[in-house]
Amino acid sequence: MHYKQYKHILSPSGGMNLYRGCTHGCIYCDSRSRCYQFDHDFEDIEVKTGSAEMLETELRRKRKRCMIGTGAMCDPYLHLEETLLVTRRSLELIEKYGFGLAIQTKSTRILRDLDLLEAINEKAKCVVQFTLTTFDDELCGIVEPNVSRTSERIAALEILKKRGIPTVVWLTPLLPWITDSVENLNGILDACIETGVKGILNFGFGVTLREGDREYFYSKLDAHFPGLKRRYISTFGNSYQCMSDNNALLHRVFLEKTARSGILNSNDEIFAYLHKFETKNAEQLTMF
Ligand code: SF4
Repeated sequence: MHYKQYKHILSPSGGMNLYRGCTHGCIYCDSRSRCYQFDHDFEDIEVKTGSAEMLETELRRKRKRCMIGTGAMCDPYLHLEETLLVTRRSLELIEKYGFGLAIQTKSTRILRDLDLLEAINEKAKCVVQFTLTTFDDELCGIVEPNVSRTSERIAALEILKKRGIPTVVWLTPLLPWITDSVENLNGILDACIETGVKGILNFGFGVTLREGDREYFYSKLDAHFPGLKRRYISTFGNSYQCMSDNNALLHRVFLEKTARSGILNSNDEIFAYLHKFETKNAEQLTMF
């Protein structure tokens, strides 16, 4: 772990990355791709110096409240978060200043901050997003080795439902010949229905691979799925998009099941929901 100084923490659209790099070890991780120009090992986590002070200054400067997003490029609940509390401090500020939160993770460590998630959701809107890619916990331990198993994430979705905190699931990636079966999809969709998720994001059933990410992925295929690397290379070459043979069928099942259950299945609608700031109390708007 190392610290680095930055001038800003929030992007113009309200996004922030509290850490850089990740220790969760997902075999398909796009964030380790070369295009992101890491100048350190991906597992050597970069922490932004003074992130809470920067965030407080930038929240105070904003003319209008908005949703603050985090978790797109690195998980805000890495192992380090247990002791550093960087994410927790940010949530305290988001709550203090009445902003909304759209937070994405694969870790049930987020439940430590349930008090803050609830408090944010009482004033404004808090949406928790979990990624689910395989219903099989054993397989999950291979493709997403250092993070909460799928069953634990589903249990967390259930807890959030009981606390009235809306949730969204990222159903991506489904790995060709590993997790792209209808059975796996049905398992995930049934859990989403059961736990009342608001929407499910899907970007086509397959995986994206590019320089940096592809080499890592192939090394893990060699370790855990002998012979599969050859199949990937002969089928996809150097393509960025590696779609499942089952894509059309999976898509049909996905659309039918989500429509029947009233779960949002349009990425545009879900992103609009995630970005829309809503407040529960009109008086809050005059607090600044
Ligand atoms: S949790 Fe996200 S950023 Fe971390 S390794 Fe997995 S895919 Fe990559």
